[in-house]
Amino acid sequence: MKLSDFDLRQIDEQRINNLSETAVKNLSITLLNDLKEARERLNQNSKNSSIPPSSEAPWDKASKYSDEEKDDESLDDSEALDKVLQADKQSLKNDFPPDEINTPSDSEAPSAPVTPPEKSQKSPRLPGKQPGAKGFGREQKIPVHQHESHHPDQCALCNLDIDPELNSVAYTAFDTLTLEWGDLIHHGIGVINTRHTYYESECLCGHVTQAAPLRQPADNLLPDVELSQWRLIGSSLAALIVCLSFRMRLSRPRIREFLHDWLGITLSVGSIHKAIHESGRAAMPLENELLEEVLNSQLLHVDETPWKENGDLLWLWVFVSSSVVVFWIASRSTELINNVLGNNAYKGWLMSDGYRVYRQFLKRIRCWAHLVRKARGLTEAYNQESQAFGQETLDFLNSLIAAIKNARVTPPDKPLSEIYHDQVSSYRQACEKMKSSTHEKTRALAVEMLNDGDVIFTILDLPHLPLTNNEAERALRHWVILRRISYGTRTEQGSRIFAILASVIETCRIRLRCPWRYLEAVIDNRRAGFLAPPLPAFMG
Ligand SMILES: [Zn+2]
Repeated sequence: MKLSDFDLRQIDEQRINNLSETAVKNLSITLLNDLKEARERLNQNSKNSSIPPSSEAPWDKASKYSDEEKDDESLDDSEALDKVLQADKQSLKNDFPPDEINTPSDSEAPSAPVTPPEKSQKSPRLPGKQPGAKGFGREQKIPVHQHESHHPDQCALCNLDIDPELNSVAYTAFDTLTLEWGDLIHHGIGVINTRHTYYESECLCGHVTQAAPLRQPADNLLPDVELSQWRLIGSSLAALIVCLSFRMRLSRPRIREFLHDWLGITLSVGSIHKAIHESGRAAMPLENELLEEVLNSQLLHVDETPWKENGDLLWLWVFVSSSVVVFWIASRSTELINNVLGNNAYKGWLMSDGYRVYRQFLKRIRCWAHLVRKARGLTEAYNQESQAFGQETLDFLNSLIAAIKNARVTPPDKPLSEIYHDQVSSYRQACEKMKSSTHEKTRALAVEMLNDGDVIFTILDLPHLPLTNNEAERALRHWVILRRISYGTRTEQGSRIFAILASVIETCRIRLRCPWRYLEAVIDNRRAGFLAPPLPAFMG
């Protein structure tokens, strides 16, 4: 949009009648472009906008996770979660005291448009808090280290160039805090306060044009999250806040404490929360690129762990390849896996546990660590028959693991599946006997080995593929600890923001790139209305 509300309020029929023919043509083109953009925005929804269906679908929520059951090992996890549910309610009360949202220190953008000054009143309004404005609690005066002036360069009405030296009046200003990054040569971290002063200029045609910080229009997926240049928290400070929250796992009050004690910056919990959400909105378009990387990978590790969203049980999913780590928080598991990988979109190998939603994929391998764990569990059963079956399974798997590891170093003359053909057959017979065992876990393991046997023993033909799903489990571990500290997310928006930021951070890390410098660039670009820069390439 070229014409601001401020511009439109000045334009009337009389003003247009007084314009030259060229100026009227220029204005018509501007109006036409603005009108088209406004119409498009009005008609925009996820069905016809650039918003990919994939970014909507994975979160498309059913009421509660109910129709799918997860297998044993993660149920323990959800029990642990239930225990913290009580504390969860407490934390909801503690984390976002509503009266904190508007403390003075985040003297951030009034969201109402600035009204044009009276014609006669040419003296600039003093920047910052206006006399008589409502005060909140403590105030922090941060000295201004540098100034940046923003002048309009063209008249919004007639397109005539504007000389910033002439008829130029400051009409508003705000401060933005950014960081000087430390590195291996210049250690430390510094805070810089930049005062951005915005000017308005009166053109010969009589129109007053204002330079204004950019505010991005509301986003369909995250309607409550503003993306704007008018911020006290600059992009690098926002990246630090995301780092403290996501990597250092600090709660928002702890982040406030850290910033106050170490950087001398007083921010409210509400401002910190908003900075994290704005960073998430800035990063959201990267989901396309991440999803594409997932679909193009040769080998994908998938895993999921319980997650709480405002007390509801959801799942945090992770998809890990050699170059990308992507998270989603979703309720119904088949739906998520279908949305991300379904319809034959994924052609590579899929490494997973035995959860049945994965069974639709043909090129599938199983995590043997889970099987070994189950077998070891049976060896401790009180039932002798189960104990013996557990031991047999354990010995068999261990001998195959040794053979697979050998085959990676010295490839055998013929496939391991041929070499071990007879042993696999006789093990299957043992499973046939046990599949009607009265001991539940024995029966379950035997049935699993029979039903998913082809997949489990696929690795005998392809010993270079991994034996375990450690990559995915490792990728989840950090976030499981964060979940225990933070008790999950509180809203659907919060979950989406969590997932995209975690994905960007971990993808940068797996590519050996600094997530924070990259996130800073993403926030800067998106606040200014540009595309997010592509994810940094792997640093070899
Ligand atoms: Zn003009």
